[in-house]
Amino acid sequence: MAQQFVASRKLFEEARKYIPGGVNSPVRAFGAVGGEPLFIKQGKGCRIWDEDDNEFIDYVLSFGPLILGHAHPEVTSSLRSALDKGTSFGAPTRWESTLARMICEAIPSMDMVRFVNSGTEAVMSAIRLARAFTHRDKVVKFAGGYHGSSDGLLAHAGSGATALPDSQGVPSSYIQHTLVAPYNDLSYVESLLKAYPEEVAAIIVEPVAANMGIILPQPKFLPGLKELARRSGALLIFDEVVTGFRLAYGSVQTLYHVSPDLICLGKVIGGGLPVGAYGGRREIMEMVAPSGPVYQAGTLSGNPLAMSAGITTLKILQEPGVYQKLEEMASHLTRGLSKEAREADVPVFLSRAGSMLTVFFTDQEVTDYETARSSDLKLYASYFHHLLNEGIYLPPSQFEAQFLSLAHGEDEIEITLRAARKAFREL
Ligand SMILES: *Cc1c(COP(=O)(O)O)cnc(C)c1O
Repeated sequence: MAQQFVASRKLFEEARKYIPGGVNSPVRAFGAVGGEPLFIKQGKGCRIWDEDDNEFIDYVLSFGPLILGHAHPEVTSSLRSALDKGTSFGAPTRWESTLARMICEAIPSMDMVRFVNSGTEAVMSAIRLARAFTHRDKVVKFAGGYHGSSDGLLAHAGSGATALPDSQGVPSSYIQHTLVAPYNDLSYVESLLKAYPEEVAAIIVEPVAANMGIILPQPKFLPGLKELARRSGALLIFDEVVTGFRLAYGSVQTLYHVSPDLICLGKVIGGGLPVGAYGGRREIMEMVAPSGPVYQAGTLSGNPLAMSAGITTLKILQEPGVYQKLEEMASHLTRGLSKEAREADVPVFLSRAGSMLTVFFTDQEVTDYETARSSDLKLYASYFHHLLNEGIYLPPSQFEAQFLSLAHGEDEIEITLRAARKAFREL
């Protein structure tokens, strides 16, 4: 099936006149895989249609939020009824407390939560709070860890930012407080904490890394970080913008038995609408204005549409067997991909956590940014385009995760595996 992308090509040309690079977030431009982006006009379940009416099985899912798939009927209907009541008030609504309660009840370490409009804003605000709470300035992050596009965290930031390793326009004085360690390297973190005693406010980590492709924490990594943070007086922040409610109902702390001081959320908790949140221990969260001296505000924060999509999404995720189903499907897909790659003699490293996975085109074990970068990006690009031509829409970068939703089923997995078999053989 040779796809025609005539309408998308025209729309991209138009978009580039008015929008930098024609897109509103860099990775969408297909720069990492070549070619031109598809303009999507519709989605339903696990499928999307582009402006040329080509149909695809979607494994991007808006880069993570759509765990129920596109236009889930219950989410859509809750949005409709919220819409009829008005879209924003700049005053508190009952939906904010409902979603806040659901999140706090799902996450043992979270006593209180504040809603914002994006993951970027959540992380930015959590770091400000950690600095205020500890009276310290420095932050330890991990190479390839992505925490949104705020100034101080755009150092070795993975995914979108790997193309632009250090962004221009960020004063070096902002980065001077950002210390970078290799993922999974506890002794490196320990040496940073020794080098800057009583200066580190927070260690921020994606507890399962998802923005340099999927990379799992080694067994001692997260407990080790917790211990190092505790000993040095730094806060441990889990950036769960992607993992929150994606790998389990709530935080990955239920899977890894490590409770951080603060957690950042986004993506899934907004059910496909713009949202972010940060929360944690009461004594820390009570420092946020207006209860405390740490200023943070937002005109559309806690937006009723985002809250109702989030509430409906979480209610569906409470149904028994939901995460088990995602796990089984993703495991089936991963085993199949591994077999097809092996039979075609294409060396790959498959990395999966729950319903997110990455096929790294490398013969090395991928444990950090360095090893992730051993991947053959040309092979990934070729694999991506082969599958696109077969109606499978993968993330347009080796360093973005492939996501599954509850709308994916065994039929789609089989179609995907058949396409992958063909692609691996032709690489
Ligand atoms: C997506 C993401 C962010 C940024 O969230 P936005 O809503 O895009 O601002 C931050 N951290 C992680 C781990 C993410 O995956």
